[in-house]
Amino acid sequence: MTRPPSASRSPRRTPRLSVVVPCYNEQEVLPDTAGQLHGLLEELAAAGLCTADSRLWFVDDGSRDATWPMLEELTAAHGNVSAIRLSRNHGHQRALLAGLFTADGDVLISIDADLQDDIKVMAEMLRYYTEGADIVYGVRQSRDADSWFKRWTAQQFYRLMRLMGSDLVYNHADYRLMSRRAVEELKQFGEVNLFLRGIIPALGFTTATVHYDRTERLAGESKYPLRRMIALALNGITSFSVVPLRMITFTGLTIFLLSLFVSAWVIWVRMVSERVVPGWASNLLPIIFLGGIQLLCLGVLGEYLGRIYTEVKRRPRFIIDQVVGTPR
Ligand code: UDP
Ligand code: MG
Repeated sequence: MTRPPSASRSPRRTPRLSVVVPCYNEQEVLPDTAGQLHGLLEELAAAGLCTADSRLWFVDDGSRDATWPMLEELTAAHGNVSAIRLSRNHGHQRALLAGLFTADGDVLISIDADLQDDIKVMAEMLRYYTEGADIVYGVRQSRDADSWFKRWTAQQFYRLMRLMGSDLVYNHADYRLMSRRAVEELKQFGEVNLFLRGIIPALGFTTATVHYDRTERLAGESKYPLRRMIALALNGITSFSVVPLRMITFTGLTIFLLSLFVSAWVIWVRMVSERVVPGWASNLLPIIFLGGIQLLCLGVLGEYLGRIYTEVKRRPRFIIDQVVGTPR
């Protein structure tokens, strides 16, 4: 899926970069993160990879700690920082979308506030952009810093998604570069149940990947407990695949065919032999088995129905409370 950026196109001019950082209760990491990102912007500008008026865009996703006051301070102290405050906690994916749709600039790079993803590879991302790539994926080479549980669940998830026929980039989270036109096209995708990792490959355009090692969180705790990981995985599966629905059909069909044979056998036993079947197991097992399968199938149908329900309501995906530090 990943094509090298086309060499035929003439290099693009130096872009104005916006780095989009969703933050939810990130008071512990924010000062460090802001400092590192500031230093990086200066380096990138000095290397001629982005213009000097490039910006940092922090999105406060309804934090309950000191994240917002800290962001306000940052915007007051630095001319190149903007902060978006959402009206409540909307979740990582929507906070990211709010940032991408609000930030200006020729290229946008999204990255988590805890800087688990190596900021150094942004230079490489920008180089790919100037060579013609519209989307550059950051891909984790090693996840040694994650707990084995996180690593294992993530791995199983990518495997499952591939099995379901989705075009996910393996080990790519939401650390990526998008060109202005890719972001504009993204606006056409109206789904409320957001799974950006699945939507963005569907945009097409020339893509590239850069690799890095994922490190520990700078400070604080993960804002992605198991409950949220499962919700994200379910969104990923149901918004990109109808394979579970098809599996229901096949299971139903198989059981139906089997039951035809069993019926024939029952009739044969009834007609030919005089045996009286005590029939405890043969009655109980199908009831439990079929009951289980039926409930499972209802559950899968319910998942899709629930998604359809939330989609048809067309509710806004995020609500912005205020934006401070807009470019002058
Ligand atoms: N985040 C957010 N809203 C939420 C949960 C998380 O904006 O409701 C942000 C969080 O501040 C961080 C990013 O999403 O910048 C990823 O979260 P985290 O690092 O906790 O996830 P993990 O790396 O453990 O998967
Ligand atoms: Mg993290």
